[in-house]
Amino acid sequence: MIYSFYERIKGINLMKINLKSMKMMNKQMILRYLIENGPTSRMELSRFTKLTPSTISRIVSDFSSEKLVEEVGYSEKSQIGRKPINVSVTKRFASSVVINVGVEQTTVAIGFLDKSIIEVKRFSTGTLKSFISTVNASLGEIEKKYPLNSEITSIVFAFPGIVNTQKSIVIYVPNLNWRNLNLKDAINYPYRIIADNEANLSVLAESVSSEDAKKSENIFFLYVSQGIGGGAMINHQILRGSGFAGAEIGHTVVEARSDVKCHCGNYGCLERYASLVLPVMEYEKNGRKLDGKTYTEKFQILVDLYAKHDKMAIAALEEFIHYLSIGLINIVNTFNPEKIIIGGGFNKIWKYFGEELHQRVSERAMPGVLDNVTFRDTYFDEIEAPVAGANALAIEMMVNNLN
Ligand SMILES: [Zn+2]
Repeated sequence: MIYSFYERIKGINLMKINLKSMKMMNKQMILRYLIENGPTSRMELSRFTKLTPSTISRIVSDFSSEKLVEEVGYSEKSQIGRKPINVSVTKRFASSVVINVGVEQTTVAIGFLDKSIIEVKRFSTGTLKSFISTVNASLGEIEKKYPLNSEITSIVFAFPGIVNTQKSIVIYVPNLNWRNLNLKDAINYPYRIIADNEANLSVLAESVSSEDAKKSENIFFLYVSQGIGGGAMINHQILRGSGFAGAEIGHTVVEARSDVKCHCGNYGCLERYASLVLPVMEYEKNGRKLDGKTYTEKFQILVDLYAKHDKMAIAALEEFIHYLSIGLINIVNTFNPEKIIIGGGFNKIWKYFGEELHQRVSERAMPGVLDNVTFRDTYFDEIEAPVAGANALAIEMMVNNLN
């Protein structure tokens, strides 16, 4: 067969592309392995990836000159001869600066390639204008103190609302009444900008970090804070929906004829009955104040009183437990996931109310639908789940965009 000149050129180009993409895939595979498994010898990398030792050495040396990996100690796995040197991802550059936006407070954290995270700052979220200026000022401070690199570092936002993840535009944050916020326009720094919903990032964090969730195909994260969010991972993929509002369980109606208006404009939404706000307000209604600056802090104190069998605390939390169980049965009947994980502003809901919630959900469940469903608190505690998810997303973006 005689190829035309054009086709030969095309063939050559294709071959170049294929070689390039294969090299890229090898680099991605090695970096992912090191991120997931920690320090590893070149020999182990070769065994795992089935790449030749010389290919591994070349790629590790490329990564080393880009300051992505470094040599750290010796491998204990080899029994014979000299112990091989381990290589590990470095903390030389931050993989992410995470801005985890809450209705009352925003957390700023720095994430690294080894998945470690340090929280650097908290501030009152405030108005949209003050929020943007505080974020830009914080980024200025962080740039001076921490090693950022525009090839590696992403700025990742977690929002309690609906986010166009493709364009990094916040479509709507009901509890703050923020609309159409284009983050690429608002942020003055030359890093990749990523934004997502806090519950979606939480379900992502669980699916890459906790052993049981890693094995689950379908997981639902119920994010309970000043509002209620939902993140659904269906067949290992986050359910986005056509308008980025997939799994917004907080705005499903649980009181059909209610005149309780929700921030979203609808009436009788789950969020108005089962967030952390309502039981605190219920308790404080009769003049007994709870200590704490935020609803989350007050809710913690209320739960402590509940654990000590305080009658007023039990009464104040009754509606919360009732509506939360309705939310849970709605999740079971809509998604029927293997795992429902609860977290958010308060991370120990299942620990305190699990038995009661399970009882109430069981009473409303159809036969058999709960057989494979497990419920638990989030695996995350000190580091907030959306922050861990944001760093995981930044790492994946960075690996995907390797040169
Ligand atoms: Zn609503």
